[in-house]
Amino acid sequence: MSEQSFAPPERLLMGPGPSHVTPRVLNAAARPTIGHLDPVFIAFMEEVKGLLQWLFRTSNRLTMPVSGPATAAMEACLVNLLERGDKLLVCRNGVFGQRMVEMAERIGAEVIVVDDDWGRAIDLNKVEESLKANPDTRVLAFVHAETSTGARSDAQALATLARRYGCLSLMDCVTSLGGIPVEIDAWGIDAAYSGTQKCISAPPGLSPVTLGARASDVIRNRKTPVQSWFMDFGLVMNYWGSEGPRSYHHTAPVNALYGLHEALLVLREQGLENVWKRHAEVSEQLRIALEDLGLSFLVPEGERLPQLNTVRIPDGIDDAEVRSRLLVSHGIEIGAGLGPLAGKVWRIGLMGESCRSESVQRCRDALASVLADTGGNRSGERRAVV
Ligand SMILES: *Cc1c(COP(=O)(O)O)cnc(C)c1O
Repeated sequence: MSEQSFAPPERLLMGPGPSHVTPRVLNAAARPTIGHLDPVFIAFMEEVKGLLQWLFRTSNRLTMPVSGPATAAMEACLVNLLERGDKLLVCRNGVFGQRMVEMAERIGAEVIVVDDDWGRAIDLNKVEESLKANPDTRVLAFVHAETSTGARSDAQALATLARRYGCLSLMDCVTSLGGIPVEIDAWGIDAAYSGTQKCISAPPGLSPVTLGARASDVIRNRKTPVQSWFMDFGLVMNYWGSEGPRSYHHTAPVNALYGLHEALLVLREQGLENVWKRHAEVSEQLRIALEDLGLSFLVPEGERLPQLNTVRIPDGIDDAEVRSRLLVSHGIEIGAGLGPLAGKVWRIGLMGESCRSESVQRCRDALASVLADTGGNRSGERRAVV
């Protein structure tokens, strides 16, 4: 074992997260650790909550970062909103819908699944049919931006369906928040969770959550205690202080919260509308560059996410070799395909601070050079590679 400080290499992060964290945010996270019940820290927590309300576009009092990655927030939402035997409808068009199904089954919920093809948006008609057939559904859960495929679904329409059929909406906005519009209050979303390492561009390890009045009422009126002590929102909220006096629950990741706070300040300075616009514009630059290399998109136009671009790997190209060369020779990380898409697609992220024209340039040049090296013997089959 080498007993030296770890010196991570310089990488251009263009995968499905984490995204680039700027020195400004890293420096904020490096400031002195103070006690998590220090009055100064408690005032700081209030500010973090306020900034998250701003980002989620909500006035929900129950808005806070869960200590843990977005998967923890996903599980926290499900375990709080559901009791054994409750009926949950999950829209599944990728990895993260499937993850919700597995979690809900462990909770003992009755899970109804509406499947869509990987790479497509959620089909609203199928969801409505299923809600009609299952009038006792308690929660409709869906992924707004399916990072495993790059597909964007109509969150507002899904929230409206949930209301119409008398159930709560639970939205995964891990990849959408800070990249494309997310409107918790205007869309009438009851519960949503996100993550810090996608379009917020803060270090991984925290996951913002927001719950509206209807969702909080469901939690307050549970017949059985939440199975997870750590994730029991009732207890967590005593610590994050929306209800009742503040008391010790767990030690907050103090420095990670400094990082999140700074990243939220950056977003505020940039302006959300400008940030959405940058994602749209830079992804258009990437689309042109990738199509120029002869690569085609998996997701149909109109259902694509600007922050996660999924392209098919051309025949005869070695997926792992290309990604490894990009990483080792060019310092660029892109994402592999998952599940049925493994070996078939690359996922190129333009999330948060990684979403810059310079990233597109570097990625394009590196990919052109790697593709020319690894696929030189079949150049006649493709359009220009260089
Ligand atoms: C990344 C991601 C998650 C999980 O986030 P972790 O921080 O890796 O736990 C969940 N849902 C979606 C849509 C994601 O992109």
